[in-house]
Amino acid sequence: MHLNKRTLIYLIILLCFVPAVYSENQSQYPLVNNNKIRNIILLIGDGMGAIQSSATRIRYFGPDGRLEFEKMPVIGLMNTHAADKLVTDSAASGTAMACGIKTNCKEIGMTPDNHSALSILEACRDIGMFTGIVVTSRITHATPAAFSTHVVSRKEEEEIAKQLVESGINVLFGGGKDYFLPSDTSGSKRDDNLDLIKTAEENGYQFIEDDTSLDTVDSKYILGLFQMKELTTFAPEPSLETLTRYAINFLNKGEKGFFLMVEGSQIDWECHDNKKEAMFRQVLLFNDAVKAALEFAVQDGNTLVIVTADHETGGMIIKDGELDGSKINISWASGDHSNAPIPVYSFGPGAIKFTGMYDNTELAKKMAESLGIQDFPKIIQ
Ligand SMILES: [Zn+2]
Repeated sequence: MHLNKRTLIYLIILLCFVPAVYSENQSQYPLVNNNKIRNIILLIGDGMGAIQSSATRIRYFGPDGRLEFEKMPVIGLMNTHAADKLVTDSAASGTAMACGIKTNCKEIGMTPDNHSALSILEACRDIGMFTGIVVTSRITHATPAAFSTHVVSRKEEEEIAKQLVESGINVLFGGGKDYFLPSDTSGSKRDDNLDLIKTAEENGYQFIEDDTSLDTVDSKYILGLFQMKELTTFAPEPSLETLTRYAINFLNKGEKGFFLMVEGSQIDWECHDNKKEAMFRQVLLFNDAVKAALEFAVQDGNTLVIVTADHETGGMIIKDGELDGSKINISWASGDHSNAPIPVYSFGPGAIKFTGMYDNTELAKKMAESLGIQDFPKIIQ
């Protein structure tokens, strides 16, 4: 084959870049030494089993690419069954990961016999660490609620909102303003006349509703409710990544470190609907938030980052497709959750503790141990 000079130059340039891009995509975050753990960032992809992330990787980066969390150095596997059911809901699994206890489906931060159990986030708050929750669902939804409140049923969102404004959690970002407005306000989902935004402000929270207000925050506590219901996950609304970056910078001002829980809430919803393209997009948005957390953790050196899910949704498998990911055929076993074991990806000091196979209640216990928090799990009422 005859190559003219110009083609040859193109070819050389191409060959220089291809291996670089390839190895970049494959590269792992390194195993970190025994630095002291100051901060924990826990990122939960609701309903995101191993296949949800594999399929998203193939779709956007090809089978040899990597999502950001797939580059994390330590991987464990977690079982997710509830106290009363083989297949969990988000309330029981959220409670397990937050409080270190097995409970029944629908229960939030409570034992099966209705005693409140302290969450890891609350334990961190109680020792003076800054704390935050960032989600794309209503802030009163099951996963965020499990880390911050205690109710017998996840459906008690009015009560969850009430507990949230008394929680002393520094950053609360998500949707669900409708549960914070008094019943006579248009769009309110409350049956009573409580104005919880006013209560939050009385308790020291600065209330914001849009991206631009983030610059005006001048308080130790922020309540950011960006929609009446769940987030749209489309601009101009701030993205999960933007909110995660903001929360990290804000919480890092605390003197004793911080605990942040971030949830890509809507991966689960797209799986319930068996909508693969919408699900890929939600995993990618979640992956962007993971990237923000890892960027901070690499620089900081004292931050443990954990990425996992509460359960798998849809019983998803990859049936076939094109090798380059341009086409991918998915089959769903159901429109519900499954019992598939869930990967736990970790990076940072103490990450190695999260290897192996364990129950989802161990996640909370391992985080407490990592921070030197004694007496956990703990029944508080
Ligand atoms: Zn869930």
